[in-house]
Amino acid sequence: MHLLPTQEDVVRVLRETGALRHGHFEYPDGMHSNEYLQVPLAMRYYQHARTLSVGLSRLLRANPEIRAMIPELSIVAPATGGLPVAYGVCEALRARQVYWAERNDESGPLRFRQFVEQSPGEPVVLVDDILRSGSKLTEMKQLLESKGALILALAVVVHQPTPTTLSFGSLPLYYLARLDARYYADAGHCELCKKGVPVDRVWI
Ligand SMILES: [Zn+2]
Repeated sequence: MHLLPTQEDVVRVLRETGALRHGHFEYPDGMHSNEYLQVPLAMRYYQHARTLSVGLSRLLRANPEIRAMIPELSIVAPATGGLPVAYGVCEALRARQVYWAERNDESGPLRFRQFVEQSPGEPVVLVDDILRSGSKLTEMKQLLESKGALILALAVVVHQPTPTTLSFGSLPLYYLARLDARYYADAGHCELCKKGVPVDRVWI
């Protein structure tokens, strides 16, 4: 595998590790799909985690604005799934720090650990394992901006857009692979349901 893994390299790793699964899946919001992706299954293996995060860091380093900011750069993840990616990217870039936000309870807002504070104009790259709905990354972006941080880019291992993925406007978006699954708004519109294919309910 080269230093910058190709789309085919990434898909092969995801399939071999069980992270990318073909079948019939129902998401918590009722949407049905023929593919399901759970990147942490691939990140269990250190060498794969390293290959993917180093690849992502190379895409970021190619952006002159980001490259110039590396010594002050924060790599921030919105959830545990993004943490191995965030640490790998930070190590490869030699960026300043990694931190993350989390929820105290399912319905509560994202927040940082106590005493984690942003400096005025702090340059930030948002990192996660996957961009699917974009809801958590949007909440994270708003939280950081409300605290005066400067978001330079969004970097994910896999971009898996759905018909309802939120837009990040002109913010640069970096990813190693883009996966276009088939989505159905609900069971009533699902071709797989019509064919009687057994459905797996997924948590995320
Ligand atoms: Zn279905």
